[in-house]
Amino acid sequence: MSPLLCRAMKETSAVCHALLQTPAFFALLRRIDEDLMKVARDRGCCHCGSVLHSANYPRKPRGCPPAAHPDCNTRLSLCCAGCRKRMTPDSVRFLGRRVWLAIVLVLRSSRATGACLDGLPAISWATLKRWRQWWTETFPKTPVGRWLRGLIPPTPEPFIYPDCLLQSVEHDSEDERLAAVLLLLLGPA
Ligand SMILES: [Zn+2]
Repeated sequence: MSPLLCRAMKETSAVCHALLQTPAFFALLRRIDEDLMKVARDRGCCHCGSVLHSANYPRKPRGCPPAAHPDCNTRLSLCCAGCRKRMTPDSVRFLGRRVWLAIVLVLRSSRATGACLDGLPAISWATLKRWRQWWTETFPKTPVGRWLRGLIPPTPEPFIYPDCLLQSVEHDSEDERLAAVLLLLLGPA
């Protein structure tokens, strides 16, 4: 690896590390989740069309940095006033049913930042291997993976997720850039 690339990687890791210690970053992610929830609520129940009421439930994500605690202990969810079915909107904090925070999954799986993020609980090699396998084998075949493939500018090297995603999204500030990456992982709005 070139010294320049190596330095760039170290700098990115330092910025990501600082963000994971910043409550404002997790407050931003929560606000995005609240917006996603409002959009889902305005659509009404997809089964019967009735009004959706708030039905949040507690979540205790694994690998949650202390700065994330106040904003990452609740999964926003809705319940239909008519048929009582639960509707859980997309979230940039919790990716599907995974027990880890989405941002931890992304940054830890990255070849560029993953190894250098101290201050987070250790993740076993077995888990990391499973995540990387998911990024390489499963994710590209999902509808979101196929959609993203068309968005990321082509490169001579093969796509390696999540790095190609982290590298291709640009934003004025690092917190907004990472939030944008998490939003992309939810697929087209
Ligand atoms: Zn309903």
